[in-house]
Amino acid sequence: MLKVLKFGGSSLADANQFKKVAEIIKSENSRRYIVASAPGKRNSSDTKVTDMLLTCFKLASEKNPIDDIFEKVTSRYNGIIADLGLDLNLEEDFAKIKFAILNHVGSDYVASRGEYLNSRILAAYLGFDFVDAADGVFFKDNGTFDAEKTNAALKDMLQYHEYAVIPGFYGSMPNGTIKTFSRGGSDITGSIVARAVEADLYENWTDTSGMLMADPRIVDDPKPIAEITYTELRELSYMGASVFHEDAISPVKKADIPINIRNTNRPDDKGTLIVPKSNVVSEHIITGVVGRKGFTAIFVEKDMMNSEVGFGRKVLEVIEKHGVCFEHLPSGIDTMSVVVSSKDIKEIKGNITAELVKAVDPDSITLFENLALVAVVGRGMIRTEGTAMRTFKALADAHVNVRMIDQGSSELNIIIGIEEKDYETAIKAIYAEFVKSNN
Ligand code: ASP
Repeated sequence: MLKVLKFGGSSLADANQFKKVAEIIKSENSRRYIVASAPGKRNSSDTKVTDMLLTCFKLASEKNPIDDIFEKVTSRYNGIIADLGLDLNLEEDFAKIKFAILNHVGSDYVASRGEYLNSRILAAYLGFDFVDAADGVFFKDNGTFDAEKTNAALKDMLQYHEYAVIPGFYGSMPNGTIKTFSRGGSDITGSIVARAVEADLYENWTDTSGMLMADPRIVDDPKPIAEITYTELRELSYMGASVFHEDAISPVKKADIPINIRNTNRPDDKGTLIVPKSNVVSEHIITGVVGRKGFTAIFVEKDMMNSEVGFGRKVLEVIEKHGVCFEHLPSGIDTMSVVVSSKDIKEIKGNITAELVKAVDPDSITLFENLALVAVVGRGMIRTEGTAMRTFKALADAHVNVRMIDQGSSELNIIIGIEEKDYETAIKAIYAEFVKSNN
């Protein structure tokens, strides 16, 4: 058994958290490769080290002094080192980083130092080797991640380290400069390492006990999701659930490695297991209900549309020309709706409508604004009759008017368009229908 573990910023925010992390790692010999984030927030009013470093970068580029804020960064690390009683001195690294910031190195280098320094401390505390991500995680010249070069390099490198700590979030460009993934990117590094060492499990340790069936800001005390497939996770994250970085799914998915989301502060909780395929029948038909506000549906109607070759393409071409991507495309016999993000078309609504009139000569075009989308997701829906009926009955009973329906071809989800004002009511009603009635 071989496990790769990633610890997020809140799990490594201070010495006390480091102690919990070490206890988790040391409790199993199979926990061999550890990917670490930069120190996160210790409380809600605290600032993440990554954000402080980016502030240093900004101040330096505006030719303002960075001493005060840089001092805050170094004292975060020195505090952790002292509280852990470690014999480790990072002053030389601090001086090098400060010099680099004052000499305007790239912002990615500056942001990445949060992970670099924290991993040095964690490696020293655990007695593990430190393996720099700059030597094993690679990007291409165009800035995209180089999956195959990275996989080969890490595989080769890590075989010489039985136990190692690797900083998350960054790698290097072909010319050797540092590049980071997008924010929250240590999840991606963890996934990449898991693939390279052919881990049996990728444990992603954070500050929640896995994913929840609904947003806890809307539903009181929603149930945790015990097991979920990669595809369901993708559907849930796309529609707004955020626990795990979206780009972190692909490397482990390629290698069929399950991911276990765990809570550093409650290590006995089982968390959520994300698997390629699930044979476990979930207690409820649905796995989760999520959604987002801020959509507009462009509703195009034309008699005999279905027999007009190229109609859909012409509509989409107009949208594409404006650089807008569509989210959904529900269509009827003589109607077609293109659902887009309201933000994306805010300034160009008039132009788009006018160009559509020119392109396809429709009978009518209507914009449904202030639309929210709700996705009911669940692998259990495929083999259960009546899921759609129950969903719509729950919405009708809660007096929510349904504006649009799109059942994904995977049959893993039903997406429903409603007015934004009904969003919270809809989520509560669907959750109650499937969870509270206990099936
Ligand atoms: N420290 C980085 C961030 O704050 C990356 C990470 O934590 O995953 O986004």
